[in-house]
Amino acid sequence: MAQRRAAMGRGVLLATMSAILAALASTSAHADVSGCPQAPPAAAFDSTWPINLGLLQQRLIVYRCNDYLKDFAAEVAKARAWVEQRAPQVVKPAVVFDIDETSLSNWEQLYHNQFAYVPSGPCDLKSGMACGQREWELGARGVALTPTLELFRFLQTLKDKNGGAVALFFITGRGEDPFERTATEWNLRREGYEGWQRLYMRPSNNPGANVAVYKTRARRDIEDMHYAIIANLGDQYSDLIGDDAGDHAERCYKLPNPFYFIPPALPEAGLKCLNH
Ligand SMILES: [Mg+2]
Repeated sequence: MAQRRAAMGRGVLLATMSAILAALASTSAHADVSGCPQAPPAAAFDSTWPINLGLLQQRLIVYRCNDYLKDFAAEVAKARAWVEQRAPQVVKPAVVFDIDETSLSNWEQLYHNQFAYVPSGPCDLKSGMACGQREWELGARGVALTPTLELFRFLQTLKDKNGGAVALFFITGRGEDPFERTATEWNLRREGYEGWQRLYMRPSNNPGANVAVYKTRARRDIEDMHYAIIANLGDQYSDLIGDDAGDHAERCYKLPNPFYFIPPALPEAGLKCLNH
């Protein structure tokens, strides 16, 4: 009986995975950036308290359509200059990337949801309903952030002190499960990210721990494999914050993301890895 149940469970799992893969295969390769009007909305913004949420949303859209990618690219350029100089000096250098709003943009969903976080529910952008986070992620519709993709590829041309490669790691706050992993890896590959060493996903058995704790553990795991993390890139401070032993990255790079916030915030004392 137990064997039959297990076999049925495997059957359901395989059928669901097949359905996801079929849906992914039909996803367009590069969704256009949505939400940027032909003429930007009025930039007038009344910043007196209480702030008007509708005007704040307008301001974010204006920023996204005009300056966001420039600011993003400028920060990635700093990371590139550093790794180009540093990688040849180190044995087994590694670079860590966050995924959402670091390697992949979810702008289409952010705009559709008017910057609201909707954890569950369907995601049909044509329905007029909010798009649930998990369904969005399973749909693998993130779009490569070009500066990060270019850095990722550039890193693959560098050599370390012994002529070895630079190891590339993803550490994401997305939860570890077979569907999320399949969709996330598919999305990364479809957008041009290939050849990473390992993709860390947040284990489901660490409730209560904030995401910075999990991400630090993942970086420590990389160090335990005798890699030297020369750079860590993320759009949240929770991607970069370390522990009492340090930040577990020689340098870190905070990419702009005014659209959502994942705690914890930047500690008052700052972060050593940001001092460069
Ligand atoms: Mg992120």
